[in-house]
Amino acid sequence: MTRTAGRPARLAVVGGGVAGALLAWRAAGSPGGASVDLFTDGAGERADASRVSGGLVRGFEPTAASAGPAAESLAEIRGSDTLRAWSRYRETGALYVLPGRTAVREPVDVVEAHLPGSAEVVGGEWVSRAFPFRELPQDAVAVVERHAGHIAPHALRAAALRAAAEAGATVRTPAVAAVTRDPGVRTADGRTLRYDRVVVAAGAWTPGLLARSGVAAAGLRTKHIQYSLCRTRLAGLGSFVDENSGLYGRPWADGTFLLGLPSDRWGVDPDGVSPDAGLARRLADSAARVFGTEVAVGRTVAASDCYHDPAGLQLRSLGGGLHTFTGGSGGAAKTVVAASRKAAAALSD
Ligand SMILES: Cc1cc2nc3c(=O)[nH]c(=O)nc-3n(C[C@H](O)[C@H](O)[C@H](O)COP(=O)(O)OP(=O)(O)OC[C@H]3O[C@@H](n4cnc5c(N)ncnc54)[C@H](O)[C@@H]3O)c2cc1C
Repeated sequence: MTRTAGRPARLAVVGGGVAGALLAWRAAGSPGGASVDLFTDGAGERADASRVSGGLVRGFEPTAASAGPAAESLAEIRGSDTLRAWSRYRETGALYVLPGRTAVREPVDVVEAHLPGSAEVVGGEWVSRAFPFRELPQDAVAVVERHAGHIAPHALRAAALRAAAEAGATVRTPAVAAVTRDPGVRTADGRTLRYDRVVVAAGAWTPGLLARSGVAAAGLRTKHIQYSLCRTRLAGLGSFVDENSGLYGRPWADGTFLLGLPSDRWGVDPDGVSPDAGLARRLADSAARVFGTEVAVGRTVAASDCYHDPAGLQLRSLGGGLHTFTGGSGGAAKTVVAASRKAAAALSD
């Protein structure tokens, strides 16, 4: 990071979700760490993605490129008493079901490299015997993952914010009105502050903030995400994704399962998201068909996230000392631990 001799580099992180909080903690806490200002507009108060996230974590993803960061993050959480406690990691096991003839060897090898003994490839018939799936193509391929489970991204964010402050970071509460490539930050109370690097980690608010700042949004866009807390019996099932039906979920609390289906609402305003009743009905129908059991949809939770193609939470340069750290595309809870470590290292180069 560009620095003037004798003083630590000055870094501004905009956004106090799990991405910004972990990046600030990593950057402030590293040897010779930066002087970090973290700008939040009330993180934890509003229903940002980190507050409502389902928190499913696993190593397996359908490609080796996407499995790497997820497996690396999960291994790091499991290997650290601090991160286990901060994130409230629970091992429930996971099942990832794919259409027939999908090649999974390469991503499974990536998971095994980080989490030895965790992942196993099984067939559709085996899944139908072991788990409550009634409708499943018999040639389906599935990956069973022992060490997968869920975390609480909101708790992880809160702990990282406390640790960042203890490591010397300053948490500033005026919202950021605009960012500049100088690089700088203009706050809602009218002040302009200059830094050596500015990182926008404002999740689904990132494209709007960049547009207001006159900076091209570089392929970032928002998407609606929702899940419902459903009363249903799915004995023996932990976290799961079924690409054949689109369903995903995890056990929530007594007799309740978090169940979701992907939304097709793009370009949503993160301040104007509300539950999509049609999607909740499709979810109930799909779940009843796939599991052959009654599914009573309870509370539906809706929010939005920042997507990037290709997907992945990582540091991206916008030129002139301005960066984004977002684009996790509905999956940053499972990659943020490793991604924030790499982003902080790249910033300190
Ligand atoms: C409903 C839902 C379920 C999900 N489930 C999973 C899951 O099971 N597993 C998984 O891996 N991922 C999941 N995700 C994705 C994951 O939770 C998100 O990718 C992750 O939480 C994003 O974190 P973030 O810090 O980038 O953004 P956010 O958590 O949205 O935080 C952005 C922060 O920036 C602040 N901000 C915005 N604008 C400004 C400004 N101008 N100035 C200052 N601050 C600002 C906001 O207030 C907010 O606090 C889910 C997401 C959603 C929405």
